[in-house]
Amino acid sequence: MSLKRDKSDSLFSRALNVIPGGIYGHVSPIAGLPRFFPHYTQKASGFKFVDVDGNEWIDFMCGFGAILHGYSNPEIEESVNDQRSMGSVFNQPSPLMVDLAESLTNAIDFAKWAVFAKNGSDLTTWALRVAREYTGRPYVIKAKGAYHGVDAWCDPGFGGRIESDRSSILEFSWNDLNEFKKLLSEYDNQISSVILTPYHHAAFAPSILPSDHFWSELEKECRSKGIILILDDVRAGGRLHEGGSHKYFDFCPDLSIYSKGLGNGYGISACAGAEFLRGASKEVFLTGSCWNDAFAMAAAIKSIEISLRDSVAQSVLAKGEYFCNGLIDRAQEFDLPLTMTGPSSMPYPWFKGDEDLFRIQKFCELSAKQGLYFHPHHNWFISNALDYGDLDLTLELAGYAMKELVDFEGSK
Ligand code: PMP
Repeated sequence: MSLKRDKSDSLFSRALNVIPGGIYGHVSPIAGLPRFFPHYTQKASGFKFVDVDGNEWIDFMCGFGAILHGYSNPEIEESVNDQRSMGSVFNQPSPLMVDLAESLTNAIDFAKWAVFAKNGSDLTTWALRVAREYTGRPYVIKAKGAYHGVDAWCDPGFGGRIESDRSSILEFSWNDLNEFKKLLSEYDNQISSVILTPYHHAAFAPSILPSDHFWSELEKECRSKGIILILDDVRAGGRLHEGGSHKYFDFCPDLSIYSKGLGNGYGISACAGAEFLRGASKEVFLTGSCWNDAFAMAAAIKSIEISLRDSVAQSVLAKGEYFCNGLIDRAQEFDLPLTMTGPSSMPYPWFKGDEDLFRIQKFCELSAKQGLYFHPHHNWFISNALDYGDLDLTLELAGYAMKELVDFEGSK
């Protein structure tokens, strides 16, 4: 398939004049993306999107996780449309905020209250402060290489940062409980919270699942030392378990934060909390532009309802397993050492020995020529709009890309 990209390129040239770098984040062209990737999307529906040049793509990124039930999901759009004639942002919240808090606290077993904002970062940072307010302690423990948002205490960049931004942030290597316990004893009685994702999903590296006793031991340590356990479920929320990813790994946080899949493309985030933190939560100021956006709340209510009704987490895990196994089988046919790391609903592909990422980049580039949108250094996301027939087609197309990859490498 030959990909057109005139409009994408000309838009990008215009962008360079008015947007520093043209595009930022994971789709910045300087981030090592395949040269066939489009810069701009025109429209999307279900599991497909169409770029500005009219090329159609089978999507495995789901708006970097923001889409769980498929682009422009009809039920969600209908709920938003019902609210459209009444408006989105007011001085006060709409009644939907109460409905949404009730849905969320019903779905999340430990949660007795919830608050809302627009971004994951808003609430990971807020949650840290709630824990500090409750404990009166300054330090926070996180995993090395974990992303919790754009704020200076955790962003992966260096720009504009000063030393004090991170002076209260301590780090340990994921799964290394000895290193974790060492921090607990070194900073005895000074640690307010531990913030972790349900499993380790760093960019540019294979995902790492928690080892057997990781969560149970970590939870026990936190409980015994009065440390607040914060689950950053911004990325995985809704994709591992309908009741939150802690259910999938069998532990219980004190606060958990959701965003990406929650509004299925409408900007919203939520922090759900245990009863004992209700008082502290009231002391930490929270607001924001469009904080009460009723469209996003209508979308989130419907998104939770669909997830529970259709067991969507189990569905994307099963589809993901079928897809990952199929991809690995095809890779084996070509003697390519592909593993799909992390949970099957949000797999991270890894060719053994490909530390420089050249092979995965080439594979994603060749897959792009087949109309497959596979990202070379970020975990992929399985959309629930995909059915098994779509996955079979994807596997067939991915097989052509693998054949080309092997031919390309053989010709070097
Ligand atoms: N935590 C995790 C695990 C994330 O993946 C992200 C977003 N990629 C965030 C926090 C920050 O969320 P947002 O981009 O909505 O601020």
